Amino acid sequence: MKKKIFIYTTAIIFAGLLGFLAVSIFITNRNNLSMAKSTVMETARISAGLFHEGADLHEFVSVGGDTRITVISAEGEVLADSQPAEIADIDYLMRPEIAAAAAGAPEVQVRYSTTHSADFIYYALRVATDDGHVFVRAAIPVAQIDAYLIQSLPLLMLLLGALALVCFFVVRGVSNKILEPFASIEQNLRLLSRGEYENRPITATFPEIEKITREIDEIAAILQENYAALSDEKNKLTYILNSIGVGLFVADDDGEITLVNNAACEIFGASPEVSDKKINYLVSDKSLAAIIDDCIDNTKNALFEFTIAGKIYLVTVKQLPDTDLTMVALADITEARENAKRREEFFANASHELKTPLTAIKGFNELAGMNNTDENLKKYIDGITRETTRMMSLISDMLRLSEIENTPEVKNLTPVSLGAIVAEVRESLSAAIEEKSIKFEVTGDATISAEPNHAFEIVKNLIENAVRYNAKNGRVFVKIKATEKSTRLDISDNGIGISPVEQTKIFERFYRVEKSRSVQSGGTGLGLAIVKHICALYDWKLTLKSKLGIGTEVTVEF
Ligand code: ADP
Repeated sequence: MKKKIFIYTTAIIFAGLLGFLAVSIFITNRNNLSMAKSTVMETARISAGLFHEGADLHEFVSVGGDTRITVISAEGEVLADSQPAEIADIDYLMRPEIAAAAAGAPEVQVRYSTTHSADFIYYALRVATDDGHVFVRAAIPVAQIDAYLIQSLPLLMLLLGALALVCFFVVRGVSNKILEPFASIEQNLRLLSRGEYENRPITATFPEIEKITREIDEIAAILQENYAALSDEKNKLTYILNSIGVGLFVADDDGEITLVNNAACEIFGASPEVSDKKINYLVSDKSLAAIIDDCIDNTKNALFEFTIAGKIYLVTVKQLPDTDLTMVALADITEARENAKRREEFFANASHELKTPLTAIKGFNELAGMNNTDENLKKYIDGITRETTRMMSLISDMLRLSEIENTPEVKNLTPVSLGAIVAEVRESLSAAIEEKSIKFEVTGDATISAEPNHAFEIVKNLIENAVRYNAKNGRVFVKIKATEKSTRLDISDNGIGISPVEQTKIFERFYRVEKSRSVQSGGTGLGLAIVKHICALYDWKLTLKSKLGIGTEVTVEF
């Protein structure tokens, strides 16, 4: 930039100087010509005034000095010439200056002299004599004027050179002064880009430039503050991200990693340098990389479990709203899964271990009941019978639940009529239904493909609850509806209902809203957990709608 400003400014000033020189030469030349014309006229007038009859013409013409004086007769014959021509020309009357003088209107003529083969400035006057008239003419060669100019040219050129030299140094000095502050600005901006800017005001020779540099300084100071705040936030964020145990990375829509935390690098055994590289550099497992790529390409979210190096991770792939970024989080759930498995195993083992002694207690109690005649003992034996029956059904539910949990897939699929199962369940619950005078209604029927036990278990648990948690004279409505897409089973009641907070918990094992009521009516707290697990096994959709004090509706979409 500095070089360009310098070259342009110098070129412009030099061209200006050259132009000025050309114009000066032109004007000087014109002035010289007009002065020469005046001199010629003046010399012609003086010579004409000095002319008298009988004068020695050769002496007369020589008084003009450098100016050529010619005396021409009325007939156009040269009588005397201070610079006589070698080639004589007799037709002088035809010369325009002589013709003008003859006509009484003398005028200056600049023309080519055929006799001297050069340009001359002529002026002639008619001078009366005793016997007629003669013409006195004065002339100066044009070359004489140019000679003055040519004489002064070297001086002019020298002046031009000196001026050009002065210009060169002045322009160099000025452009240095103009550009000096910009060089400092450039350095400051470079420091700013590295976050190392220090507010050192830049001074400039020119107030306009100083104003600009001051404003740039102010903007730079604001940017520096923002930069510092941003890098502070970034450091905090990086610290937090690296402190959490969840592996986390963010990729853009080209599949390039824009952010990655230490945990993610540890999971995949990669170095933090994978930032800005493709996902494959970080995610070593090809099938996982393919799933993530698919989510990025089709902008879809996903939640799934994935095993990497013997550890189970819950992988969340999420498109970040209003950006082209995708976040991938990997939470290690190995321990949680192992704990759950251990719980399930304990659950199954404990149920098994309890079943045998309980069956024995039940048997001994029945024997004791049969042989007892003591009325006082009878109420204790009845109490043991009631509690062992409850425990038997609890253990049977526990075993059932662990059996379902350990079923990897359903095998014996057979067509099952939902209507028939509902009728069977209604029959088994007839005592409870009649005791509460419940109005039991069933509409529709459909056949589903399932293991009969599983279908029975679902229908039984849901209808049992609808009756159990109903009031006297309540109503239970079972609706079976088959459409082209699916079969629906709706079991609704106008019983006590469930609050929204409880609705999320009642599918957990042993969770009961009102334990005493559940226990009193023979509930184990496992019914809905069994229903949930069977539905999950078949991928059936289970939904519950309920309002406290109004009633409950449970729907299974097969
Ligand atoms: P339980 O054997 O105690 O009935 P469930 O797993 O079947 O166990 O149900 C869990 C809890 O959900 C019940 O204890 C009860 O509080 C509540 N519940 C289930 N079904 C209904 C219903 N239809 N109306 C009101 N509450 C219900």
